[in-house]
Amino acid sequence: MSAAPDRTGRFAPSPTGTLHLGNLRTALLAWLYARAQGAAFRLRVEDLDAGRVRPGLEAAQLADLAAIGVDWDGPVVRQSERLERYGDALGVLDADGALYPCWCTRAEIREAASAPHGDLPEGHYPGTCRRLTAAQRAERERSGRPPALRVDAGAARIAFTDRLRGPRSGVVDDFVVRRNDGAHAYNLAVVVDDGAQGVGEVVRGEDLLDSTPRQLWLGGRLGLPAASYAHVPLVLGGDGARLAKRHGAVTLADRIELGETPAAVRGRLAASVGLAAPGEQPSPAQLVERFDPARFEPGPSGPLPGV
Ligand SMILES: [Zn+2]
Repeated sequence: MSAAPDRTGRFAPSPTGTLHLGNLRTALLAWLYARAQGAAFRLRVEDLDAGRVRPGLEAAQLADLAAIGVDWDGPVVRQSERLERYGDALGVLDADGALYPCWCTRAEIREAASAPHGDLPEGHYPGTCRRLTAAQRAERERSGRPPALRVDAGAARIAFTDRLRGPRSGVVDDFVVRRNDGAHAYNLAVVVDDGAQGVGEVVRGEDLLDSTPRQLWLGGRLGLPAASYAHVPLVLGGDGARLAKRHGAVTLADRIELGETPAAVRGRLAASVGLAAPGEQPSPAQLVERFDPARFEPGPSGPLPGV
């Protein structure tokens, strides 16, 4: 008999803005998937984009999560403290012959990516710098312009089954793992961290569905076990666009100012995905009790009723 899969979950906010109700609902669902399966839940702060991180936001985000009943196990992990691990992972890929330098400018990539390239979806990097001759490469090295690092993914097709979205597959392009300013790319950090934090089930917004084949491919090249995925619907504004400040009272603080309690906000989030009756205020423990990962059907992305 094989052991039950580890369903350790996580939420990974970026401290670049206040969490809105859509972020909080995704966090609540990720937490419910983990807790309803008796699994651990991790918190990771994705603060690699130093130019956009704002002081004080991390503390506010953690406080908002705690206020709606999301708790986590172990210390909060910060990506800015893990640069050495990302460098190690690049070393593994490099030793494996899976990296190459790319000197392309944004404009060059846009131009090249607009032409069709076999299986690759439009907009994907077509591998220009993978095919440079030795002379072309030497010329670019002499330019002094620092290169980004890309993986050589060989247009691999990766298939997976999303809990909520069913069977999916996608072609992996030669995506960037280190930018030309030296910063580690999102896809690299996420994969390394999910591996290090033992995350077995990734629950996140469906806007990240298309990055899953890249991350599965990368995890495989780094020898990490493949996580399973559940991409949950997004909360939209009344105009159908992704929820944002301009849509009104969209943060926990905004709702509290309107006289709602955190428990009422939790109830509102739960009701919007069929886990509570309108106006009901179930406790976190009650939600865990009634959440069935195998049967949960949150419906499509859409506005939050009453917001
Ligand atoms: Zn290039």
